[in-house]
Amino acid sequence: MFQMANTREQCSWVHTDYVEATKKAKALVRASVNRVVHHEALEKRFVDVNPATLVIGGGIFGLSAALEIADSGKEVFLVEKTGSLGGLISNIDLTFPYMHSARQMLTPKINHVQNHPHIDLFMETEVKDISGYVGNFETILTSKDGKDVELKFGNIVVATGLKTFDPGVIKDYGYGKFPDVITSVEFEKMLLDGKILTKEGNEPKNIAIIHCVGSRNKDYHEYCSRVCCMTALKYSKQIRSALPKANIYEAYADMRSFGKNCEEFYLQTSRKDVMFMMFDKQDPKKIKEAGSRDKCKLLVELNEKLCGTSVEVPADMVILMVAMEAYDNVTDISHAVGISMCGNDFYIEKHPKLDPVAQARAAAARILATIAVGSVEIEPTTAIVNEDICCGCQTCIKVCPYTAISFDEEEGVSVVNEILCKGCGTCSSACPTGAIRTKHFTDQQILSQIEGLLSLKEV
Ligand SMILES: Cc1cc2nc3c(=O)[nH]c(=O)nc-3n(C[C@H](O)[C@H](O)[C@H](O)COP(=O)(O)OP(=O)(O)OC[C@H]3O[C@@H](n4cnc5c(N)ncnc54)[C@H](O)[C@@H]3O)c2cc1C
Ligand code: SF4
Ligand code: SF4
Ligand code: SF4
Repeated sequence: MFQMANTREQCSWVHTDYVEATKKAKALVRASVNRVVHHEALEKRFVDVNPATLVIGGGIFGLSAALEIADSGKEVFLVEKTGSLGGLISNIDLTFPYMHSARQMLTPKINHVQNHPHIDLFMETEVKDISGYVGNFETILTSKDGKDVELKFGNIVVATGLKTFDPGVIKDYGYGKFPDVITSVEFEKMLLDGKILTKEGNEPKNIAIIHCVGSRNKDYHEYCSRVCCMTALKYSKQIRSALPKANIYEAYADMRSFGKNCEEFYLQTSRKDVMFMMFDKQDPKKIKEAGSRDKCKLLVELNEKLCGTSVEVPADMVILMVAMEAYDNVTDISHAVGISMCGNDFYIEKHPKLDPVAQARAAAARILATIAVGSVEIEPTTAIVNEDICCGCQTCIKVCPYTAISFDEEEGVSVVNEILCKGCGTCSSACPTGAIRTKHFTDQQILSQIEGLLSLKEV
């Protein structure tokens, strides 16, 4: 039996009054001793893992994860909601920081996935609901043509990616009003087509690139989208080689060039005769039509932070580095899969945006390690119902956030699925009769610990 009295973090590291800290340490020891006498043995339990994996999303992350797992001989179900594979990368010309062709990277992966004996591909299909528990899930996939497919699998990779922000909502940028104000995605299409031209079909003499459009702004998204600084630098580099005489203006809030070889990429681009200008991220910026005497079509008005004055940047084309944002149905996916969300509608996990391939490999490696072991350990501190005093009110079923409790109609009592239960204790605190309790957090254990803390008796 074990109970720790944390006299380091909770006493010596946080208090300066040694006398009071010693009193507190004694109280903590007393509380632990009081509690430990009520401890009961907890059993380690394991459940078998179904070796099949469901991958949701057929972008570069999903493709890479699916291949990594399938190449090890394990079955993969890959679900993509659209009619094509590749996600955002399929609309990209060259990728920073090495300027490799996105298509050359993507096409062999797509071919490999489409012909892989261990990958079942479900196009134009979505996952409605997932039931089960770690190692043993089930779902019904619904395809666009109305066909339902039932699947069983033990692991899930969520690779649903992000979409781009619509800059039309920022009226001062005139997106949708001025034809030569375009998004990064639209500029990428121009690069893929091999021609940088204004809507009138001319080569632009002045190109302005505006960072943080919809990102790092309290009116839209406060987070940093993380890919757009590097993408903007990539554009400056590509514009310089396509249009050697063009004036390139890059207006940024902070230059975020983190990631392997990204700072070097920034340095190389800064030597390409690009005019960098800094603005405050909350300051308004405006794109307006140029006057008849200006030798350009548009003017970008902004307060340049480094020289401290308001400037008008000439432009024939303005590229808006739009934010990355969650899909509207992201919470449906998180509920179906049972993963938590943090603010901004992102899943709680490492941000996969900067190196989706490396992140996909890491996710796949973790899954393969679980499959190799063949079972996963489950939480021993689960809830348990005392059937003798359960009155069948079902309050616990309503409050359980993991749908771990069901009702036994015949016996008229609640039953906990110990594999689904996460031991959060919500049911125990809501139960009116005290029939449901969480192992290792019983009333007796907690109350005796409190008594120990509050006891005036010196040890
Ligand atoms: C303009 C632009 C330029 C960029 N340039 C670069 C670059 O040069 N270098 C670089 O490294 N990165 C670049 N990026 C970032 C890069 O596009 C992303 O890092 C990468 O696409 C992320 O891959 P992903 O597979 O995670 O997501 P995505 O590419 O978004 O793919 C997600 C896939 O999941 C599918 N999906 C979504 N929801 C569901 C669902 N519910 N069910 C089933 N399927 C679903 C989507 O249809 C999509 O196919 C750029 C991004 C943009 C916008
Ligand atoms: S442009 Fe740079 S700083 Fe702004 S959101 Fe994108 S990555 Fe972050
Ligand atoms: S809340 Fe308590 S009494 Fe009511 S059904 Fe659940 S375990 Fe039984
Ligand atoms: S402890 Fe939490 S997860 Fe387990 S049954 Fe009770 S409410 Fe559900």
